[in-house]
Amino acid sequence: MPATVESLFAERTKWMRASDVREILKYAEMPGIISLGGGLPSPDSFPLEDLAVIFEELLKEKNAGAFQYGPTPGDARLRAALVERLKTRGVAVETEGVIVTHGAQQAIELLGRVLLDPGDTVVTTEPTYLGIFTALATYRPSYHGIRMDDEGLLTDVLEDDLRSLDRKGVRPKFLYVVPTFHNPAGVTMSARRRRRLADLATEYRVLVVEDDPYYDLRFEGEDLPPVASLDKEGWVISVGSFSKILAPGFRVGWAAGHPDVIGKMSLAKQGVDLFTNSFGQRVAERYLRLGMLDRHLPQVRAMYRRKRDLMLAAMEEHFPEGVSWTRPQGGMFLWVTLPSGVDTRPLLPRAAERGVVFVPGHGFFPGPPEANHMRLNYSYPSEADIPRAIEALGGVLTEATGPMAAPAVGRASSARAPRPPRPRRPRC
Ligand SMILES: *Cc1c(COP(=O)(O)O)cnc(C)c1O
Repeated sequence: MPATVESLFAERTKWMRASDVREILKYAEMPGIISLGGGLPSPDSFPLEDLAVIFEELLKEKNAGAFQYGPTPGDARLRAALVERLKTRGVAVETEGVIVTHGAQQAIELLGRVLLDPGDTVVTTEPTYLGIFTALATYRPSYHGIRMDDEGLLTDVLEDDLRSLDRKGVRPKFLYVVPTFHNPAGVTMSARRRRRLADLATEYRVLVVEDDPYYDLRFEGEDLPPVASLDKEGWVISVGSFSKILAPGFRVGWAAGHPDVIGKMSLAKQGVDLFTNSFGQRVAERYLRLGMLDRHLPQVRAMYRRKRDLMLAAMEEHFPEGVSWTRPQGGMFLWVTLPSGVDTRPLLPRAAERGVVFVPGHGFFPGPPEANHMRLNYSYPSEADIPRAIEALGGVLTEATGPMAAPAVGRASSARAPRPPRPRRPRC
């Protein structure tokens, strides 16, 4: 009786929506399709032999802790190991300032749960990781987007905007950034901008949520200090994950920062799921403690570097004039920009016909989307498939941007499925 069931749903369900990436799954699951659309690590990156050793040990453990209920903020040894690991990056936190979560995604959801009332302002880059829209949807924030360039978030624009928001009496609840190998943009925030961001956070007393799941996946250039390492007053919450460096299936991530914020998140988590799965936490803890992660990472970095290089070389060869893209020094994604006026959404079915899918950039924008972008992933497709996929996509782009391009390829807004209004502020 669907009609009666419908009337049972809570008001907040009207604000829930599926992530835009799900839309492309219907193509990605078609046989023979090469997907550059997902955000999956390579299955070849999962350290199966190390995991076999760890599993064996956990099965033999006397008190069977891997299978038992555990404390809400997380396994004590894993939290201590995370404190040590963060210290090597210059991030100083106490154990009470660390919570283990079911992935970074849950850390973001819990931050929304404890910080946001409807209409509160969240500042993000433009574009931004789209998982935050689903994580925060029911808390109904108002998003304020800040643009990026090759050095990441434009901190001068941020400063102007924080000042003008302040004049209007608006104090953003938090500023969400992915400073390293940005998803979807592939850019990394420079050391200079990171410093500026940490200073602005203190000056405007705005919490920065630094989501850094790709920190360990640098295959070129120098490590840069996390924003949290430049913060002296506890304004940065550092979010991390084992998903991209071990395996996403364990669902182990964390948040670290001001103990009062972490404590509230822990209270919220009690109500949600009591604690993060014990088995995954024990696996992650051993993977760190036995030095397996640090022995394994160089292989993952080398693999992703090869894949990135294959993709960039094929793009040089097959993408037409007028199309540009970022050149990431790590992570899993790059961001393609077509001439303005070309909408990437109608290109998706055409690309699927030729055997390749990508993510149109629209869903990554907190405000009105720019229609002429796409995100490409190089971690998941095989080395053999990458050049083929790029050649096919190049054909689609050549048709769309060349002199014979069909006019009026559609407008970004009309392509969106109807949904309840998301509270938004126009870009300043
Ligand atoms: C993949 C990803 C996540 C989700 O990570 P989980 O730990 O698997 O929840 C969060 N943030 C960003 C920027 C990501 O790319």
